[in-house]
Amino acid sequence: MSVDNTTVVSRRASREPLAIDCDLCVVGSGAAGSAAAIEAGRLGLDVVLLDGAPQVGGQATGAIIDTFCGFYSIGPQPELLTFGIAEEIVRDMTAAGAMARIEGRRRTIILYYRHTVLQRWIEDALTAANVRVITSALLRSVEREGVRIASVSAVTRFGEVVVRAHSFVDASGDAALAWLAGLSVQEPATETVYGSQNGIVRGVDVAALQAAGGGEAIKRRVVAKAADYGLDRHDAFVYVLPGSDQVLVNMTHIATPLDPLGASRMVVDGHRQLDRAFAFLQAEFPEAFGKATIDRYGQPGVRQTRWIKGRYQLSVDDVRAGTRFDDAVARCAWGIELHNRADVVHWEGFPDGHVHYVPYRSMLHAEADNLIAAGRCIDADLLALSSVRVMGPCIAMGVAAAHAADLARTGPLAAVDAAALRGRLARNLGIS
Ligand SMILES: Cc1cc2nc3c(=O)[nH]c(=O)nc-3n(C[C@H](O)[C@H](O)[C@H](O)COP(=O)(O)OP(=O)(O)OC[C@H]3O[C@@H](n4cnc5c(N)ncnc54)[C@H](O)[C@@H]3O)c2cc1C
Repeated sequence: MSVDNTTVVSRRASREPLAIDCDLCVVGSGAAGSAAAIEAGRLGLDVVLLDGAPQVGGQATGAIIDTFCGFYSIGPQPELLTFGIAEEIVRDMTAAGAMARIEGRRRTIILYYRHTVLQRWIEDALTAANVRVITSALLRSVEREGVRIASVSAVTRFGEVVVRAHSFVDASGDAALAWLAGLSVQEPATETVYGSQNGIVRGVDVAALQAAGGGEAIKRRVVAKAADYGLDRHDAFVYVLPGSDQVLVNMTHIATPLDPLGASRMVVDGHRQLDRAFAFLQAEFPEAFGKATIDRYGQPGVRQTRWIKGRYQLSVDDVRAGTRFDDAVARCAWGIELHNRADVVHWEGFPDGHVHYVPYRSMLHAEADNLIAAGRCIDADLLALSSVRVMGPCIAMGVAAAHAADLARTGPLAAVDAAALRGRLARNLGIS
């Protein structure tokens, strides 16, 4: 039998990029960008979500973070601070047995989550909200028309994509959209803010680890002996993944430069540091880690690199004072957690009941009418940003960006009525 099952094709010389028009284009599908896209899709906006990674979820699914911080208030009985999408994730993942509450640490509730299940949750929610998702799409250029972003171009394996939209959300974490648009962005002036290379170690004898004092014993041993093992970070921690023989290792501090060679070196440096941390665990806790292996290196975890020049810079004084801005759109109670030293983390917790807020103006780019940032690239000083870049407030900011785009439609984002926006976000602001 003969079957005609091949055909010869060749690329047309002047192949036009795929052009898409939409209401809202979101760049970056981490906690902030996914929340923005899902909420905007549910509001009926035609949304395109671009991400350079092959899957959605950003660091929440790719960097082995595995715990949600900033969802709850601080005190003896912490309460949820962000509702809507955040509440749905907690509800659905708890029901699926993919989430556990870690109570008491930092006097709040931290939520352990299985990142594979979160990944699927985000994918399903984006699909249900009719969001057009384009993954493996790296931003290449941004076209401006005066004070408006007109379109963004991204490169994929399968050709170039141009997305034109009324409004754009920069949820890239590194303010990639603002940067490529030639707009003002900000970087740490002198400090290095470190990221971390997390990993999963499998085959751990968890009972032996508990008998040896668990994670607390490891923390103490790291403080005492990190230098002997050449570990850069001296205040690291490990966390046993519930119901498994796996441990999440968060014991490294890596510089996260924004140039192609540096960013590639960062990956190898992260892996090397994780290997050294693992060697430490095996040598110091042989009963627990003697038969274990490194199962997976996550994507390098990046904290604070580059962020927009907004219409207001959230300051550490605002955070400490809990300033209630007239245009507040998100809140959290997470402490100031600045990773500005290789060896230790600067941590500043707050008293029970403390809450601080993100103003809308910190998300709006100062020089563009239709560009809003969400997540870890809003305008805040180093210390302030370190307290609002955890995932609870990132989700709240994403949701706020979606409502702002819905209220603005074809008009400028800065003209959105703050009271109307706050009205829509009332539960997330504790004013309902
Ligand atoms: C090691 C580490 C541990 C942490 N621990 C916790 C924790 O326990 N709990 C917690 O709540 N928070 C934690 N954080 C903070 C938190 O994880 C991040 O700040 C948060 O996930 C940021 O979300 P985001 O949506 O702003 O950005 P990201 O998750 O970084 O998403 C940005 C997305 O934009 C895409 N992108 C970037 N540039 C481009 C481009 N040019 N073109 C196309 N796409 C692009 C990326 O691929 C990515 O998917 C931790 C952070 C690190 C690094």
